[in-house]
Amino acid sequence: MSNIIEIEDNVTVGTLAEKLNIPVTKLITELMKNGILATVNERIDYDTAVIIVAELGIPDVELTRKSNEVVVSPRDNRQPSLTGTLRPPVVAVMGHVDHGKTSLLDAIRGAEVAKGEAGGITQHITAYQIKHPATDTGRLMTFLDTPGHEAFAALRQHGARATDLVIIVVAADDGIKPQTIEAIRYARQAGVPMLVAINKIDKPGADANKIKQQLADQEVLIEEWGGDTVVMEVSAKTKQGIPELLDMVLLVTDVAELKAENAGPARGLIIEAHMERGRGPVAIALVEGGTLASGDYVVAGGTYAKVRNLETTTGQVLKTATASTPVVITGFKTLPEFGDEFACAKDEKTARTLAESMMATRQSASGKLDMSGGDLIRMINRTNELTELPIIVKADVQGSLTSVIDSLKSLANDEVAVRVVGSGVGAIGENDIHTAHSSGAIIYGFNVPLSSSVKQLAHRDQVSIRLYNIIYEMIDDTKLELTKLLAPEIVETELGRLVVRAIFKTTKTEVICGGEVTKGKLSLPALARVIRGGETLAEVEVTNLKRGPVDAKEVAEGEMCGMSFRSTAKVTIEEGDHIEFFTRQTVARTL
Ligand code: GDP
Repeated sequence: MSNIIEIEDNVTVGTLAEKLNIPVTKLITELMKNGILATVNERIDYDTAVIIVAELGIPDVELTRKSNEVVVSPRDNRQPSLTGTLRPPVVAVMGHVDHGKTSLLDAIRGAEVAKGEAGGITQHITAYQIKHPATDTGRLMTFLDTPGHEAFAALRQHGARATDLVIIVVAADDGIKPQTIEAIRYARQAGVPMLVAINKIDKPGADANKIKQQLADQEVLIEEWGGDTVVMEVSAKTKQGIPELLDMVLLVTDVAELKAENAGPARGLIIEAHMERGRGPVAIALVEGGTLASGDYVVAGGTYAKVRNLETTTGQVLKTATASTPVVITGFKTLPEFGDEFACAKDEKTARTLAESMMATRQSASGKLDMSGGDLIRMINRTNELTELPIIVKADVQGSLTSVIDSLKSLANDEVAVRVVGSGVGAIGENDIHTAHSSGAIIYGFNVPLSSSVKQLAHRDQVSIRLYNIIYEMIDDTKLELTKLLAPEIVETELGRLVVRAIFKTTKTEVICGGEVTKGKLSLPALARVIRGGETLAEVEVTNLKRGPVDAKEVAEGEMCGMSFRSTAKVTIEEGDHIEFFTRQTVARTL
């Protein structure tokens, strides 16, 4: 029978050696063999410990993770709960910068503010709950301003289904942009339903149909065209379509029958934290289950608080808060971090112990994800059109980690760059896989071990892990990945020109005409521009070329020929128009 040894999430090298009943030098040597330099008092994480113990080949020893003394059960809401009480939907609003995310959130809040709350529209807030102004039952909905897609990924990294619906905001006068595409990708990866709000329809240049077409290009199949994604046309400015949007939010999320258990201590997520003059650390937390009451002890990340006054984000005092409610919690000893889970502890002593042990985990050699809420917001607020390759870097020691990251970052140019969504010293662990999965990142490991369980998880989640011992190989591989992201160069080559002498047939999408080649040599396949008086009328696809009644491969300057072309829009062609034949090729570029 194997001897089961319980260890914490992270353990000092000395303690582990003691528990394994082996000399500490033996353990340190084995760690070194695996590229980890740790002294007797340094901590290694559970995953690393499991690998090392396996490598040591000690017979009949099995490690298990010691569970923390949290009074609530670990997160169980990876999937929506099917039991409990119905809870309000949690809706995240995402979209390209300047497409009106903030304005829309303010307008939604305003829809209720205008209905009865005093004060009218005040300042913008990150999360709030509203009562649907038009339903008699006053159904509640929670809205989150997702600071960025990375932030969304960070929430997922905790296994959180923090949101039930993503509203993707697209400006009707601008169209789908890289961040819109990213938002769509994240919603898909997270398995969260999406609803598209075409915003700014009040603007003169608004073209909702163009957006719908662009959505189709992204394989977002809209309801109107037989798919299942609801598209609403709104204006955050004039409030047009906002009540209908709210109706739709309820309709779409009702399908999932969202439920949560209100019994028991509360748990949830920190969705914002900042320092406030006179109040100290202030956090906004989203309750995901249980009931939070004033007087409770809340532990989040490496810190804890006694909840003195429970308030909504609009300053209303609450006695208790249940699932889907965003609340403001003051009284934390230090600032918790965005994306931290919170749980309740039974008394202050337990809260403090838990917070301290979490802090130790964070500072351990296991590698902390270098992604804080602030970083995320900064990242997403960059408005350039840079295409980024998300990566997670793990290395054996801090020195190599820093130099690997620096080298990879230096590969950037104006168009492409790596974005480090996570990094750390030590083995690649499950958390890295979760982060990579939700952010689409590749994991680069430099001189680090990989356990078979993590490898399996990566395989299941289709996460790519690249392991190296030579830094130059790592750089070359990254360069290759970045090169793939470079937009290909489009090269046009003019073939020749024809002047139209006769028109034989014109339908909605096809034209057959004849003419004389005035320049160059015409051949197929080719695209063409119809030019009249020096102005291009349309770009078309040439489908046939004929010399007399027979198909021709080539027609040279001075020769007469017939041709047909196809066009998506109707083109009215006249005698005397010029048709310029050309080819368009995409050529891959190098970094
Ligand atoms: P965000 O970056 O996505 O949060 O976008 P904002 O909410 O800050 O909006 C960007 C700009 O678009 C601001 O100048 C808004 O006033 C403007 N805007 C937002 N929604 C609308 C709308 O529905 N109609 C018009 N005309 N302008 C809008």
